[in-house]
Amino acid sequence: MKKGHLAPKHPLPMRITEEINIQLALGIKYIAKRIGPRAAEEKNWKEIMEKARNCSECGECLKRCPFQLPIPDLIKENIAWYDRLRAQ
Ligand code: SF4
Repeated sequence: MKKGHLAPKHPLPMRITEEINIQLALGIKYIAKRIGPRAAEEKNWKEIMEKARNCSECGECLKRCPFQLPIPDLIKENIAWYDRLRAQ
């Protein structure tokens, strides 16, 4: 397993795999509500969501999430949502 991604403001720091920023990949919908559809074209968000596509569904984050969130499923949902936003 590659070490790498860190969700810096997560209550439980999550250093996991694939350099995925879980906190931001899960939060993009809320950010987009604040800054609008241009969120999809922001360079940082593109990088965050492209890295999120590397989720291997290994489940390491599930063991560490204090809220028992279905993180891999939520990441997939947000990638689909992000792709629809970019297609508009
Ligand atoms: S399931 Fe995806 S987000 Fe969770 S630790 Fe594995 S690669 Fe990272």
